[in-house]
Amino acid sequence: MTADLLSAQDHMDLAARWGGPDSVPFPVVLSEGEGAWVTDSEGRRYLDFHGGYSALNFGHRHPALVAAAKAQLDRITLSTRAFHNDQYGPFCRELAELTGTEMVMPSNSGGEAIDTAIKVARKWAYQVKGVPDGAAEVIVAASNFHGRTISIISFSSHENHKAGFGPFTPGFKTVPFGDIKALRGAVTENTAAILLEPVQGEAGIVVPPKGYLNEVRQLCDDSNTLFIADEVQCGLARTGDTLALDHEGVKADLYTLGKSLSGGLLPLSALIGRADVLRVIGHGDHGSTFGGNPLACAVGLAAVRLLATGELQERSRELGAHLHTRLNELDGVTEVRGRGLWAGVQIAEERWADRRVTERLAERGLLCKEARGHLRVAPPLVVTREEIDLGVDMIAEVLAP
Ligand SMILES: *Cc1c(COP(=O)(O)O)cnc(C)c1O
Repeated sequence: MTADLLSAQDHMDLAARWGGPDSVPFPVVLSEGEGAWVTDSEGRRYLDFHGGYSALNFGHRHPALVAAAKAQLDRITLSTRAFHNDQYGPFCRELAELTGTEMVMPSNSGGEAIDTAIKVARKWAYQVKGVPDGAAEVIVAASNFHGRTISIISFSSHENHKAGFGPFTPGFKTVPFGDIKALRGAVTENTAAILLEPVQGEAGIVVPPKGYLNEVRQLCDDSNTLFIADEVQCGLARTGDTLALDHEGVKADLYTLGKSLSGGLLPLSALIGRADVLRVIGHGDHGSTFGGNPLACAVGLAAVRLLATGELQERSRELGAHLHTRLNELDGVTEVRGRGLWAGVQIAEERWADRRVTERLAERGLLCKEARGHLRVAPPLVVTREEIDLGVDMIAEVLAP
């Protein structure tokens, strides 16, 4: 039984019977992708406005990334951290230089980078700040999304991400996102870190009030607290800057990156930031079999070099302005949130109900994600102006009264 003899329905049946029930994929079976386009197993083409939750900022199979992967596949793919490899150092150095940070700790998934950030923050609190052992707190924002591990869901506000998975990891406090007063009220002498997405992705592309991130930085400075920016989704050119915090001229102490760090080719994440903070992790205190593997680092290095030209950031800014203008003009749209080529499009209730909006977009050839009344628009940053117009026209048709 070869894959190409199966119908799309066969594939979905196989997935339902033999695959785990973790997610509910949209009923389309993808078999090929190039740039901003994908093709399903029955040969239909779709414009991709989903962009792999920002893991596909470079588009599907960017030629420079595929070339780097192919070259590395013919050399060595895994050294483990038991040995050095010749891709790790160059990748860490160029990623640090790109982001204006001092040190890089590569890992595999975004969740792993977040988990590592929490470990580092806690240890820093005990060793440097003088917090009594076991008392360190990390403050997070409501409606956050930082991943799915036990510790991370322990501070999720999504009940369905948590229900049935307890007991949870203690040591977290939640405050409303964008509310500096609430944050000030929550900081104590035991606060190790404030962990935030500079733009909340899964919450619906929520940009905080102007000045908020500057105030968070100030609060962290005043209270000797670490600022951890989760840029797994909003980072790496998605908002029009290399890091979303760059837009505010703010620097975090630590950042987490993932998703597009390897351009959608394979898992690669990193915790980056201040060397004096990351050095609280002693040799042998932390590690991962595949973290920093030469294949991922080779692809990551190629991705960093693409970002270093600034071209994708500029595309995101310019085309993002066009995207936002067009979406704001649509009949039936009540609000457009976001920054750069990234939009949370709130749709009027009467245009939403029973509309099967994403199904009807797919019938026209556009793939998009929706969540309770809003569409998420996050095309690969290699998308063209004409393709943006094509996609927005399809949204307009589906929303038309
Ligand atoms: C996706 C995401 C994560 C988790 O990344 P995984 O690779 O799925 O573990 C963490 N933070 C943010 C902001 C994300 O969007």
